[in-house]
Amino acid sequence: MKIFCVGRNYGEHVKELGNSIPENPVIFSKPDTALLKNNEPFYLPDFSNDIHYEVELVIRINKVGKKIQEQFARNYFNEIGLGIDFTARDLQTQLKSKGLPWELAKAFDGSAPIGNFIPLDNFVGSNGVDNAINFSLKKNGELVQQGNNKNMIFSFEKIIAFVSNYFTLKVGDLIYTGTPAGVGPVKVGDTLEGFIENELMLTCEVK
Ligand code: ZN
Repeated sequence: MKIFCVGRNYGEHVKELGNSIPENPVIFSKPDTALLKNNEPFYLPDFSNDIHYEVELVIRINKVGKKIQEQFARNYFNEIGLGIDFTARDLQTQLKSKGLPWELAKAFDGSAPIGNFIPLDNFVGSNGVDNAINFSLKKNGELVQQGNNKNMIFSFEKIIAFVSNYFTLKVGDLIYTGTPAGVGPVKVGDTLEGFIENELMLTCEVK
C-alpha cells in the first residue's frame, strides 16, 4: 500500500511556515514502515531536535483507479480517519534550503500514526462531504490544533484527481490531506490525542 500526504493545504498553516499558497497540491509520500497503528507510542528519533506534530484527516482508497476525474473521485473513498504527519522540522528546513527532497524529514519510521477509520457517510451534510468535518488535536490535554475540511485549499476530490494522474491508486492506499495551523514541537512524555468532532480517534505517547 502507498501513503500520500498533501503539504500546504490550509491557508493559515501555509502562512505560519512562511510558505506561499501552491497552485497545485504539494504531494509527498511515506513508506508503510512510517505507520504507527493501535495507538503505539512514538519514539523520538536521534537525527532531529525539532519533531513537530501535524494532525490531518486521512482518507482511505476503496477502489482501484487511475486518472480519476474530480467529479467521480467521491466513488474512490468511503472512510475517514485521523493521522499525525510527524515532521523533523529542523531537517526539513535544511533540505528545503538546499532544494532537496523532504523524504528524510517526513517519511522516517513511525512518522505516520493512524487511528481507526469511520464511514464518511456519517458526515455528509446538506453541503456534501467537503463542508462537514471538524477535527482537532490536544497535547497534554490542551487544544493545539483545530481544523475543518471546508478550509482545505484542495478538496479530497481534487487531491484524488491530481494524485491519480501520476500514480495508480489501489485499495487501502491512504492520503493524509494536510494540516491546519498550530503545528508545534513534541518532547518525551507528551501525549497527543486526536479527535474527529468529539470522538477520540487517536492517542500517541511520545517516548
Ligand atoms: Zn502534513
